[in-house]
Amino acid sequence: MTRTISILGATGSVGEQTLDLVRRNRDDWRVVALTANCQVATLAAAAREFGAEIAVVADESCLADLREALAGSGIEAAAGRTALCEAAARPVDLTVAAIVGCAGLGPTMAAIEQGGTIALANKEALVSAGEVMTAAVSRHGATLLPVDSEHNAIFQCLQGGRIEDVRSITLTASGGPLRLVEDLSEVTPEQAIAHPNWDMGAKISVDSATMFNKGLELIEAHHLFPVGLERIRIVVHPQSVIHSMVEYRDGSTLAQLGPSDMRVPIASCLAWPARMDTPMAPLDLAAIGELSFFAPDEERFPATRLAREAAEAGGAAPAVLNAANEIAVEAFLKRKIAFSRIAVLVERVLADGDHPDAPRSLSDVLMVDEASRRRATEMLELA
Ligand code: NDP
Repeated sequence: MTRTISILGATGSVGEQTLDLVRRNRDDWRVVALTANCQVATLAAAAREFGAEIAVVADESCLADLREALAGSGIEAAAGRTALCEAAARPVDLTVAAIVGCAGLGPTMAAIEQGGTIALANKEALVSAGEVMTAAVSRHGATLLPVDSEHNAIFQCLQGGRIEDVRSITLTASGGPLRLVEDLSEVTPEQAIAHPNWDMGAKISVDSATMFNKGLELIEAHHLFPVGLERIRIVVHPQSVIHSMVEYRDGSTLAQLGPSDMRVPIASCLAWPARMDTPMAPLDLAAIGELSFFAPDEERFPATRLAREAAEAGGAAPAVLNAANEIAVEAFLKRKIAFSRIAVLVERVLADGDHPDAPRSLSDVLMVDEASRRRATEMLELA
């Protein structure tokens, strides 16, 4: 039976890998909405290839180009944040939320409000909105399927188990490309985004290098799997073969293993609760040889400590942490600050003290996000 799908962030790393799987199973899917920020040519080519109903760019200045690129195709073209949310609200069987950053929050919430199934890659949206998002999921009867490989692994390990029987959850972390680099002050953007195991967008690659990615994932796991923050652990596992683990109270630990290819967790969401074929080679453990594990070094990479503290503080703190990190990563990628300043800036914004009350609605979260971005930008300029 053909199912309908919309992909928010279709031109990104997760978006394109989703389209690759859809392309391999064309008869199973009808594409409704595809969105991007401003990569018009890539978006229009995908919309034409998959016969999408509508293509949307977030950046309004790109609309004329999008219209031109779609001329004669019969595909609707739209632009702007409102158009993005309207497209995300078109009813579909599956929405893949793969916009990067808190910019994806509004459209993801619009999809949640339709009560559909959302394959969530956009971790920053869940980190920032926290209970606002999980409450909306319950209120609208929506289903969140985690795309992030670690959370997808945990989700798989929990199938058939009861959350009250879980003793702990262990998130694995590759440690990123800088785990063994001694002097972090001289790291360039090129070094930081050269991830040893995964091929990802620039922002998440920098987050992996700083370990903020694991910090965001800790908060994400806290919202997706209510076992208590103190039961969620992090272990560095450089081979990225085990994607995460669940330990039950009888002493059994279940792990999910697989290649470091996002098409595996994406396929798990596309086919859920069934399974589908992917072009992955079988896992060859003998060729891999050894799996190793280390405790995270929070002296050199304080991001996981900062994230845990923000999660413990609750309220607006995770949204503040996320916004400050987004500003810091952007500044680092533009070579305005050193790599080692990213965590320093996030810690300063968090310690600023004057945090707003716990957000109770989407507009509250967006206000916290906006205010924290302003504060982080001011601190950058003062530094
Ligand atoms: P990319 O940078 O590769 O792609 C981001 C997508 O979001 C693009 O389609 C981009 O459009 C769009 N976009 C960027 N800014 C905006 C905006 N302001 N408004 C609307 N759309 C925007 O990111 P990834 O695919 O790497 O990551 C996407 C999300 O998935 C992130 O939250 C990341 O943490 C998460 N994730 C990614 C993984 C990966 O392997 N890449 C693994 C696990 C999670 P345009 O191309 O026009 O700029």
